[in-house]
Amino acid sequence: MKKGLLFIISGPAGSGKGTVVNALLTKHPELKLSISATTRAPRPGEVNGVHYYYITKEEFENRIENGKMLEYTTYSGNYYGTPLKEVNEAMDSGYDVILEIEVDGAMQIKKKMEKSVTIMLTPPSAEVLEQRLRGRGTETEDVIKWRLQRAKEEIKLMPEYDYAVINEDGGAEACADEIYGIIKAEHQKTIYTSSIIEKFI
Ligand code: 5GP
Repeated sequence: MKKGLLFIISGPAGSGKGTVVNALLTKHPELKLSISATTRAPRPGEVNGVHYYYITKEEFENRIENGKMLEYTTYSGNYYGTPLKEVNEAMDSGYDVILEIEVDGAMQIKKKMEKSVTIMLTPPSAEVLEQRLRGRGTETEDVIKWRLQRAKEEIKLMPEYDYAVINEDGGAEACADEIYGIIKAEHQKTIYTSSIIEKFI
């Protein structure tokens, strides 16, 4: 069976990453989204085992020590990480796996698994980014400033990624199509397809 590939999607707050990933998975349910572990508390409506595996700090540190995390980081005072076994099993079963993780984790995986494919989703401009962060209307000025600053720092790392996809307002479906185009193209790379040569010699 052909092994699946690993696609890492990062995008700062305001990039619309959640909506884009949802659109991608709705259109292409054959893709497998990796469910991360986190020590942060579930938000209203979030379900254990669906949005994240919500675990304690002790359990998370135990998993790090036992080599059970493909990558992990701390973000906003909480641990977030990708369970190694689930990702490997899904890829071995032929699934393309999507990770929706921040830049630090993406770079860790890039070093370990050179065939992984990194995609950064970005808002079209600093103005749109700020509008989107303010538009939620739920956060304090300090939090907005922190998120804005962090978003800009993450976007600066774009050259480390293989691909960038720009999310215009209302552009989630278009972004999902672009990302799917990347997934299809990656499978056509000659490292995966050149075995066909054998049929000609
Ligand atoms: P949130 O708390 O808003 O769900 O996620 C906060 C940030 O953590 C987002 O940028 C999200 O992409 C990132 N994140 C979620 N899961 C993981 C993970 O397993 N590893 C890493 N490195 N980042 C993650």
